[in-house]
Amino acid sequence: MERTADVVVVGSGIIGLTTALRLQDKGLRVVVVTADGLLSTTSAVAAAVWYPVGVDVSSRVAEWGAATLAEFARQAEAGIPGVSMRNTRMAMHRQQPPGTPWWGAAVPELRRLTPAERGPAYADGWSFTAPAVEMPLYLPWLLGRVLDNGGDIVHRRLDVLAQARAWAPVVVNATGLGARQLCGDHAVHPIRGQLVLVRNPGLHTSTRIQDDPAGYTYVHPRSTDVVLGGTFDEDDWNTTPDPATAAAILTRCTAHVPDLRGARVLGHAVGLRPARRGGIRLEATAPDRSGTRYVHNYGHGGAGVTLSWGCADAAAELAAAAVGGPSGE
Ligand SMILES: Cc1cc2nc3c(=O)[nH]c(=O)nc-3n(C[C@H](O)[C@H](O)[C@H](O)COP(=O)(O)OP(=O)(O)OC[C@H]3O[C@@H](n4cnc5c(N)ncnc54)[C@H](O)[C@@H]3O)c2cc1C
Repeated sequence: MERTADVVVVGSGIIGLTTALRLQDKGLRVVVVTADGLLSTTSAVAAAVWYPVGVDVSSRVAEWGAATLAEFARQAEAGIPGVSMRNTRMAMHRQQPPGTPWWGAAVPELRRLTPAERGPAYADGWSFTAPAVEMPLYLPWLLGRVLDNGGDIVHRRLDVLAQARAWAPVVVNATGLGARQLCGDHAVHPIRGQLVLVRNPGLHTSTRIQDDPAGYTYVHPRSTDVVLGGTFDEDDWNTTPDPATAAAILTRCTAHVPDLRGARVLGHAVGLRPARRGGIRLEATAPDRSGTRYVHNYGHGGAGVTLSWGCADAAAELAAAAVGGPSGE
């Protein structure tokens, strides 16, 4: 096969597509290889609000989150499909330390909830404005941009990452949970999330209860529906929605947001968050014996949307340097 691209990005979830676009911004020719259709990725299932959860905390994560928030804010302003900024209310049963939380520096309009706002059941809480992204609209928009810029997409499941060198001498690995098998990284594991989708009865504010003893609870309105969650089941590979879990999610969410009472159920979904023990892998590795260079960008857990553009910037820098660097051949 003739190589026509500078970089092949394996994965067409949020991480692969944002990285592909940043590479094209640098003038590089890109092909995207994916096993799954766009709307069958984990990214398509995501509630997709900005909030760093299910990743190890580090200064890099804080920087990627801030860069991503700024990019989504710009896109919301520009009217990009599926992107908006939403008021968010987060209530907690446990009193939080004084001062700004580690993720708070970049978040617009961050303030503590007043006792009246959070209600007597909660000891603390935050109000802030954060990006909310409707992935079934946004992922097709991202792919459309990649194709309009001259990129290509190939539907193929790889058995090993090295097969990607058929398309280009530099490979970006954005395979999420797939990296466990593709590059034998057993630190990668699933955190199962189950959701219920209901018709939006007119809600505009996102609500999350971080430490609900009955279970992880959130209510994220979108244009026509509301995403109700959820679960956070470590190492659970089961992708079938469980009816008892769905009923419990509905009960918890309705207790917190009574306007949901009677909202029509539109569907159920399960996704496996691609978590990684030891944190996100975002690094370039030395060329292999064929001279192929690899840049890894996977393991974003429950924060792949939240960190997407910041990680894409960093991965594209590494990949562009690899294109310009010695081939090792
Ligand atoms: C219920 C739920 C709610 C969530 N809510 C949020 C949220 O509110 N905010 C947030 O920031 N994040 C959220 N997330 C997390 C977010 O969805 C993930 O972090 C993100 O989607 C990971 O993106 P990704 O591109 O790495 O992986 P994926 O979307 O899984 O994409 C992986 C890509 O790699 C391809 N691939 C894998 N293996 C191979 C192979 N062998 N050969 C070829 N291609 C391969 C796949 O086909 C796919 O194209 C949520 C996740 C779930 C499940």
